[in-house]
Amino acid sequence: MSVRHAEIVGAGLAGLTAAAALCARGWTVRVHERAAEMRAVGSGLSIFENGLRVLKAIGAEEDAIRQARRGLERETRDAQGRTTSNVRYATRMYEVTREQVLAALANAAERAGAEIVTSSEVVSVDKRGAITLATGATIKADLVIAADGVHSRMRDRLGVPCHRKWLADGAIRIMIPRTPAEVASPDGAKNIEYWSGHRRVLVAACSETELYVALTTLDRDYAAKSIPIDKGLWKASFPCLEGLIDRLDGDARWDRFQVVKLPHWSRGRVAILGDAAHAMAPNLGQGGACAMMNALGLAVALDEESNVPDALNLWERRERPLTDHTQRLSTFYSALTTWPGLARSAAFALIARSSWLRAQYLRTALCTPTGTVEPVGLKSRQPG
Ligand SMILES: Cc1cc2nc3c(=O)[nH]c(=O)nc-3n(C[C@H](O)[C@H](O)[C@H](O)COP(=O)(O)OP(=O)(O)OC[C@H]3O[C@@H](n4cnc5c(N)ncnc54)[C@H](O)[C@@H]3O)c2cc1C
Repeated sequence: MSVRHAEIVGAGLAGLTAAAALCARGWTVRVHERAAEMRAVGSGLSIFENGLRVLKAIGAEEDAIRQARRGLERETRDAQGRTTSNVRYATRMYEVTREQVLAALANAAERAGAEIVTSSEVVSVDKRGAITLATGATIKADLVIAADGVHSRMRDRLGVPCHRKWLADGAIRIMIPRTPAEVASPDGAKNIEYWSGHRRVLVAACSETELYVALTTLDRDYAAKSIPIDKGLWKASFPCLEGLIDRLDGDARWDRFQVVKLPHWSRGRVAILGDAAHAMAPNLGQGGACAMMNALGLAVALDEESNVPDALNLWERRERPLTDHTQRLSTFYSALTTWPGLARSAAFALIARSSWLRAQYLRTALCTPTGTVEPVGLKSRQPG
């Protein structure tokens, strides 16, 4: 078979993983990124065993987790700092800066032979396998991947209907330096989520020097979601975090959580990948991992089935059930934030006690992504 070529729109977790995985299977690949540089939103990313397996399969794991923090426990605390639950992670989990993961993926893709072009905006896509750039140039390809994120314009250009559900909550994300006391504290090994009514603060170290803080609240909580951060308001909600909240300076950004669902993940020779196809609330820390799993799964399906539209159908049949399951659970968790405190605590206690519920919760993190064991076949993934 002659060498096949892919054009990818978007150098995020999805597009870069697909680039590395396709190049490793003999494709030529060009990735278009409209930004002048691949600079990520300053935030941490939890990557569980499933995501780590994908990173390893494309040769990016070592770079992605170098000097990152291995998370051992997840704890919830009340506004006074009293522990309300503590769970040891059932899989490996690393908390990493988003920037480091993107750099690791870009390096892996380029090592495998991909070309990454920045300041290259794609304005249109054709289901017969072509993209048009902002410069007016049209480029044909055997496969086009629309990995242009939750607000995907390529998805709209293809005419794929998008069902978007805005969730009640969202988060302000910010990175700050760690203090020596934080580095020395045993809390540094944990991801800790503090709760006060519908507001919560996630504190998670990404390395010896960097601390990721996410302030989550309801979208209608206008004062709490404002930027610059209203420190007085957050300190009143979380008296035990006064010192930390005082240090929340620098680039911060609010994002309301949303769920994107499409009737199909492809049209003709175009695959829709990552948040463009299946954005979800970040409550399970699996949105990016699903993007990476599905990117690798896509390359594997294209290896197994030479007809591109048939391969895209095979891919969706195989990968979609787990992504749908993950979206459902993360949406449910978001719904819990709107419940009264007592009902919410009862729900968390039930989840902790019920082995069935815990298995549902852990299913994505514990799965073996397509392409991370050989041989790969339709049976490698349990249907959802
Ligand atoms: C608050 C929050 C916390 C999260 N925490 C986690 C976590 O802990 N773990 C986890 O796994 N996931 C997490 N996620 C989810 C994760 O961030 C996303 O699922 C992931 O970034 C999606 O990657 P993507 O490549 O699909 O899209 P994106 O990262 O959005 O990348 C899309 C890229 O396409 C480019 N682009 C867009 N349009 C064009 C165009 N027309 N031409 C060229 N380029 C274009 C954009 O500039 C961008 O670089 C979180 C999300 C949020 C909101």
